Formats: sequence, structure tokens, C-alpha cells
Amino acid sequence: MTSPRNSVRLDVSARQPRTFDAPRLPDGHRAPVSSYFGRHVLDLIKLREKLPRDVYNALLSTLRHNSPLTREVADTVASVARDWAVSQGATHFTHWFQPMTGLTAEKHDSFADLNVTMAGELRVLEKFSGSQLWQSEPDASSFPSGGMRSTFEARGYTAWDPSSPMFLVEGANGRTLCIPSAYISYHGHSLDHKTPLLRSIDVLSRNATAFLKLIGDVDVKSVAATLGCEQEYFLVDRAQHALRPDFVLAERTLQGAASARHQQFEDHYFGSIPARVLAFMEEMEYELYRLGVPVRTRHNEVAPMQFEMAPIFEDVNLANDHNVLAMDVARRVALRHDFVCVLHEKPFAGINGSGKHCNWSMATDRGENLLEPGKTPHQNLRFLAFLAVCLKAVYDHSVVLRWSVSGANNDLRLGANEAPPAILSAFVGDQLTGIIERLMKGEAAKDPEHFMLEMGVSKLPTLAKDNTDRNRTSPFAFTGNKFEFRAVGSSQNCAVPMTVLTAAAADALSEMTERLKKKLNADPKHRDQAVVELLREVFTETAAVRFEGNGYSEDWKSEAAKRGLPNLTDTPAALEASMKPENHAFLVRTGVLSQLEVDARFNVSAERYLKQVTLEAETLIDLVNTAVIPAVERQLGVTGSAWRVMGEAAGSLKGSAYGKRVSALAAGLEALQDGVARMQALLAGLHHGDELAACRTLGGKMRPLMHEVRAAADQLEAMVDDEHWPLPKYREMLFVK
Ligand code: ADP
Ligand code: MG
Repeated sequence: MTSPRNSVRLDVSARQPRTFDAPRLPDGHRAPVSSYFGRHVLDLIKLREKLPRDVYNALLSTLRHNSPLTREVADTVASVARDWAVSQGATHFTHWFQPMTGLTAEKHDSFADLNVTMAGELRVLEKFSGSQLWQSEPDASSFPSGGMRSTFEARGYTAWDPSSPMFLVEGANGRTLCIPSAYISYHGHSLDHKTPLLRSIDVLSRNATAFLKLIGDVDVKSVAATLGCEQEYFLVDRAQHALRPDFVLAERTLQGAASARHQQFEDHYFGSIPARVLAFMEEMEYELYRLGVPVRTRHNEVAPMQFEMAPIFEDVNLANDHNVLAMDVARRVALRHDFVCVLHEKPFAGINGSGKHCNWSMATDRGENLLEPGKTPHQNLRFLAFLAVCLKAVYDHSVVLRWSVSGANNDLRLGANEAPPAILSAFVGDQLTGIIERLMKGEAAKDPEHFMLEMGVSKLPTLAKDNTDRNRTSPFAFTGNKFEFRAVGSSQNCAVPMTVLTAAAADALSEMTERLKKKLNADPKHRDQAVVELLREVFTETAAVRFEGNGYSEDWKSEAAKRGLPNLTDTPAALEASMKPENHAFLVRTGVLSQLEVDARFNVSAERYLKQVTLEAETLIDLVNTAVIPAVERQLGVTGSAWRVMGEAAGSLKGSAYGKRVSALAAGLEALQDGVARMQALLAGLHHGDELAACRTLGGKMRPLMHEVRAAADQLEAMVDDEHWPLPKYREMLFVK
């Protein structure tokens, strides 16, 4: 009888790419994307066609200038949304929100409602009012609140975010109108990831506009943060995934001997995309286009069966909603192709993990990218000022930025010579380093006019084109006209790091504005000189955060320590440091989070870490006890009897190769049992009254112990009859065609 593992292996090898019903032209070719892009989105184009002019203008003014939304506008938008959604086959609507679980949540309500006619008859009608659009009350007592809610006021409410358009989600048998929403407690505290992001966008806009006014850009009305996130993921065959309890429960392999072939040939990255995978990508992209998600790039990543998608960048709030949606669609569409889309940061040991590089910048309402070097001296001075803002943001707030990308999953990736280190530094490239250093030496201060002229005319414009010296080992790299925050993990809701980064920039802007005001008060006539002087100071104060070298090297760790940069190697360390008031005060100061909301997020983060590592430990214990040990015992029986037979034939059992095999198997078993016993003791001794202490135990003791147990199991995997090993092996999962 073939083992389930081996029969799955055969099934997998026979799978064919799946085709789907894509829209086609009369000649049979795929219809162009432009013919269906955004079809499932109630976007501004549709709203302009359907809304009365004055209502549309009122909505626009809310979106552009934050003017308050009236009940009347909400009522009219709701009725248009209902007509459109129902005509597209939607039966239900839902407020779609992002609780602190990191996932999305939804509770569906039917449009159908009972109505009593004048004659007293009961009728069912499709209804959807402005107040239903505006606000909803999910029974949300089981979403994490980080202790902000006591059970007697367990419920919160969700509130429509008009800046992110409504969209239709398709089930097998119908559609649902999704309303992007914020999630707030009855006392007005944010219980989600969207609200703080929206607040950070607001404060950045205000602070950046004020700063721009001061340096002479008086026409700018608002400033947006922009985001384009490169999403990495793995695909694992669905049947193989199902045979691995570690994948099913903990979303990663907790055991698995290295495959002789892994990523050493460097042949996968940008290689041709396997046919089954390409078919999946095509269908996923089709779904995303209909949802208005501008996915643009697809390619293989470094590790086998690892891939990437990247969109065209958008305003950070929309881009984040779109990324959350893209993760969801990727997971759903993958199943149709008999894949599981694994978004975990480190599904396989020994090969690269997955990140989500967040490309971030700031743009004015006139569409000027503030991190884009310009053509005039003024534009370039402004560019240097915003570069300084970013360096200051990272330097001043590196601790909380580090926390914002922490988590049990990403800990397995950061600092592992495949992903940026846990030390936050910024890379700006040779040219900018040269300019910054000259500025710091005071050359510019002596002759700012000349300095500006030189930069404006000859130096900066070539910068955007010169992307070649980019540094893949830096967690925060300038790439010509944006920063790439590379430490973000693939499964994260990137609203968290984007909120912290945006708030950090807003905070840096606020301080720089005050300092510039003082200089201008002292000498109102020489504005540019005052700006150059401020930049000289800021570049000097933040010099420690700039690092151009190899972020993976051991030298950098000691160099960073000398520079006083924090090296927070895991989540418990990042949490503990972030909890210090001086490190997170800027979040409160900028109004992005209240103190209560900050504390709640740290509580949720500790709780999630604790649950995740505990789950992994329990899953590994189960895996070892019920899959690995029995397989080794069977092998020991076979090898043992062969040993006895050989011994009888030779007249002695001592010292034979068989003897060594038996002892190795037996020693492996002992090691496993001993390791499991120690893991169980650690679990039993976890101090649940002090979550941070429990997290430290899990990070400092449990994780290394799990590593030991896994190593023992991996060695045994290589000694057990292949036919009897129950778990799909790395070499089988990683080389699916
Ligand atoms: P590369 O491929 O060299 O990394 P791309 O220009 O393809 O650079 O950008 C990668 C990601 O960065 C894409 O999602 C892109 O839309 C995004 N991006 C480009 N410009 C900006 C910007 N100004 N703000 C935010 N994201 C941006
Ligand atoms: Mg990139």
C-alpha cells in the first residue's frame, strides 16, 4: 500500500494548470484589462454618473478637504450604492474592517427588509439607508481590544470610510457589498488598524503643509502619504499542505530536513513562471483588477515556490485596503488551483522568508512627489528637507518602528541574513551621502547660493535614474524617489508600520517647523540659508542612522552598538523598549493614538506573540509524538531485526554498521523525548500573570528549544525509510511544476 504522502506526491505531479472564464473578445482573445478594471468597485466615476451633481460635489469636498459629511449625502450615496450592488447581483452588505487581529472582519446583513404597505400587506424590499451605510454594530466582543473594553460595554461600532470606495466580493453563489470601515469602541477608542492610519495621514498632511508654507511652497493645500507594497508569498500544493499539521495549524513547517536542492542555483528568481502558478496569477490578477486593485508586477522570488506581486502605488489608506484585499483574494484563488497561498514570513527553514517591502513617499495635492529630486534649486532644497524628515523620523523613532514590524513570524526572518537586520538604519546611496556630508561639513552654510546652484543644476536630477547602487541589506532604503521599508513582514497588515512611519515623519516635521520658525524670526531675510542651516543640524544629529554598508554583516552589529542604535532582536525586546514612555510618546503627541490606545496595542501584540509561540510549541510536540516518533519506532524495529539477523550470522553484534544505525536511531528518539519533555515543562511553567515575562521565556527559551527538537527530528527524517515517512518533505513541496 502506498502511503498517503506518496499518493499525494503522484497526484501533485499530474496536476494541470487551471483555466477560468475570463472575459473574451469575439475573436477569442482575452479582453483588455481596461475593459473590466474596477467593475466591482463603486468608484468616483460611477458615483459621478449616478449621484445628483450637488451630492457628488459635497462628497468630493469631504474627500478632498475633510468637510463634514451630511446625513442627506449619506442617504443619497446609500441608495445609489444599493441600486448598483443589487443590479450586480449583491444580496447582502457588510462593513469591512480591520480589527487588531491583523485580518479583516465582516458581518453580513441582507438588503432585504420587511415593509408594511398602506393596505397593511407585508412586502419584502431591498433597503439600505444612510445610517446603515454610516455605521454598524457588529457583535464584536471577541475581537481583541487590548484591555480597553470591559465586558459590560463589549460592543463597538464600525464607521464608513468614504475615502476608500465600496466594492463587491464574490462568493460561489452571490455577491456582497463591502463598505470599508473603521472600528471604534463606544468611548471613541480605536479598536482597529485603519483609524490610526487615517489619523496619521491627517497629521502628516497638516504638518507637512505648514512646513512647506514656511519654506515658500504656499500653494500646497494638503500632503498625502503614498504606498506601493511588494507582496511576497509561497505556494504549497493543497494536498501536501493538508498532510502537514504544522502548516494547517501554525502556517509554517516546524520540522523538515533540508532538501539537497534549495536556492543554491539561484535559478528561480525572475526565472520562467511554472505553468500552474502562472494560471493562478492570471486568475488572481483578474479578480483584483475587477476590484480596482492596480496589480502590476508578477515574478518568481529567490526561494523555490516563492513569488511576488506588486501594485502601482496609491494613497496609503487605499493602498493598504488593497493589500489586505489582495492577500485575501490570493488565498481564495489559490485554493481553486489546488494551492495554498502561504503568507507566513518563514514557512520553510533554510531558505528565504517572505517580506512586504513598503515603498513609501509623500506627495502634495498637486501631485508632486516630495522625495523626488527636482529641476530647480528650490525643488531640490525641498527634496533635501524631506529626506532629512525621513532620516529624522527613523532616527528618533526607530524603537517603535522596529516594534511595528515585530511579531512571532517576522522574528524568524529579520536578522537572518536574508532579510534586513533588526537594527533600523537608512540607506541613501553614494551621491546623497556625498551631498549630505558636504552639507554637514558646513560647506553649504558658507555659500548656500552656490551650493544650491550646483545641486540644482548638475547633481540631483540624475539621481532618480541612478537606482543601481541600491542596497538590498538595508531595512529602510532610499530608491531614487521613495523609501523602501524592507523589514515589514509578508503576512502583516502594513497599516501598522505605515501608521508609525507616517506619524514619525509628522513628528519630525513638527519639530523641524518649530526650529525653522525660530531661525526665521532671528533672520527673516535669508530663508534658504535658514533651511540649509536646519538641514545641516538635522543631518548631523541623525548621522548615526545612515548606513551604506552590508546590513547582514556581523561588523555592522558592533558598529551599530557603538553608534548607539538599538538592536532589538525579537518581539519581546521590541515590545519592552517600545513600552517606555519616551519611545512611544510621539504617537500620543501627534494625536495618532491616545495613551490608552497605545497600551492596548502593546497588550495585543504581547498576547498574539504568546498565543502564536505557544501554538507552535504545542503543534510541534504533537507532530513529534504522533508522526515523527512512530515513524522512527517503525524504522528501529526494521533496523533492529536486521541487526539481530546479521549478528546471529556473524556470531557477534558489536561494532557493526548496523549497531551504529540502531544507536543513532535510539539516540535520536531519546533526544526527541527529552526535548518534548523540556518543552512541556516550559509550557506548564509559563507565568500568565506577566505577559511580557512569558513572552521573554517563549522567545529566549522555547524558540531555541524548538530549534533543537526540530534538528533532532530533521536528522531522523534522513534515516527513516522514505516510504514510511508520513510528512511531505521539503524536496517534494518546493519543486512543484
Ligand atoms: P523597483 O522595481 O525598482 O523596486 P518600482 O518603481 O517598480 O521600483 O517600485 C516598486 C513599488 O514602489 C511599486 O509598487 C511602485 O508603485 C512603488 N512606488 C513607486 N513610486 C512610489 C512613490 N512615489 N510612493 C510610493 N510607492 C511608490
Ligand atoms: Mg523594490
